[in-house]
Amino acid sequence: MQDTLNTFQKIASELLEDESQNPVADFIPSDELYQQLDLSLQKEAIPQETFEKALKELVFKTPRTATRAFFNQLFGGRNEKAVLGELLAVLLNNSMYTYKAAGPQIGVEKVILRNVCDLLGWNENADGTFAPGGSMTNYMAMVMARDAVDSAAPYQGVQQKMTVYTSTESHYSIPKNAAFCGIGRDQVRYVPTNDFGQMNAEALKAMITEDVAKGFTPIMVNATAGTTVLGAFDPIEPLRAICDAHQMWLHVDGAYCGSVLFSEAYKHLIKGASTVDSFSFNAHKMIGTPLSCSIIVAKDKKHLYNSFSNDASYLYQTDHDEFNLGKTSLQCGRRNDALKFWTLWKRVGTNGLQEIVDHQFALADVAREYIRSNDDYTLYSYDESISVCFNYKDIPARDLCTALYEQEELLVGYGSFRKEEFIRLVTINAQNNQEDILQFFKVLENFVETHEHLLVQRVNQ
Ligand SMILES: *Cc1c(COP(=O)(O)O)cnc(C)c1O
Repeated sequence: MQDTLNTFQKIASELLEDESQNPVADFIPSDELYQQLDLSLQKEAIPQETFEKALKELVFKTPRTATRAFFNQLFGGRNEKAVLGELLAVLLNNSMYTYKAAGPQIGVEKVILRNVCDLLGWNENADGTFAPGGSMTNYMAMVMARDAVDSAAPYQGVQQKMTVYTSTESHYSIPKNAAFCGIGRDQVRYVPTNDFGQMNAEALKAMITEDVAKGFTPIMVNATAGTTVLGAFDPIEPLRAICDAHQMWLHVDGAYCGSVLFSEAYKHLIKGASTVDSFSFNAHKMIGTPLSCSIIVAKDKKHLYNSFSNDASYLYQTDHDEFNLGKTSLQCGRRNDALKFWTLWKRVGTNGLQEIVDHQFALADVAREYIRSNDDYTLYSYDESISVCFNYKDIPARDLCTALYEQEELLVGYGSFRKEEFIRLVTINAQNNQEDILQFFKVLENFVETHEHLLVQRVNQ
């Protein structure tokens, strides 16, 4: 194992060194991948040297998500305190279903969940779990909502025509999950938003009333904290009142920006979160842990047990349910996603997590200010969002983003809201500073100046 660790250390050091010089990896068109890289598997073993060479080549050609040129996704950067925990979790290789198999790592997970519940103002009745991503935590919320309304559903299957409500700007996992839950994609109602991309509560109310009149059973409203494109926050308080009136479950999908929970300055964006039935967020997005680290907490833990526990005498042989986390999780074998969050939180404190979140908003302010003070740009997103959406010199966003990627300058994506398509700059990498954001615009502007022929060509195509 020591040799292997040395190999790791060597490749990792070389990668870090190269990243600092070349923040964007070489672009390999997908149709040339197998010609450019030897990914083949063969019958015979290969010499260590050949193996290391192939491995290094693969690592070096892989998109670099931790650098100051990566703004493409709702994650980015490399938080070393969290990476340390993740590397150790891999070495330890526990499975989180029982205390017997994971020991104190169970405590690590429970302490995080307890602290998250405390931040929401929830008592000992609340609990939660980790799942492999926001799509999965949203899925768990929908299962709990379904079973809360109809306790026979997990046994007899869904008998009623149930409906769920989510905004037109919400994540695509909601219809997928409705399919998985037996509710059906066609029973997902997309509630229109206001000009800021937030769910329109009045429209929601009317849609529910109409569905009830048609004989549907409305079971859940999904409120988004940080929509995928604009980074908008649905207003929780009016949604709570509507859910109360119809005995519906209220879930907050905070995969993207639910971590504002850690910030005194920005938690007003999820005002009312203490009143929801379940709340999920991805620590691998705003908090910056490695993928994946997604948490869901439920205000009343009985729903977690009702929907996710199954007796298994071959597994649960010792200790209380409370320390056998398999009783409330989606999976059986489950990797330790908690340790990376714990190493970070332990080291920097809750105040340190707040600084991470606040810094991302400060970087977004820098970007918006730059855009507003420069006539070549048009801004489409709003304050208090870390998604900064804009266009430059009326160049079609998708052309510019694709050219920047293929020419190995920047990785940034585009999105749309209503009729406009625009570049979406996500300031989620907390290792970036103000200069890195200004540098982003500089690189973009220089690129346009020197590649005008290329961009014009694309537009004409
Ligand atoms: C990213 C995201 C998800 C999905 O999370 P994964 O971890 O990618 O599965 C769900 N909802 C929102 C709002 C997101 O931004």
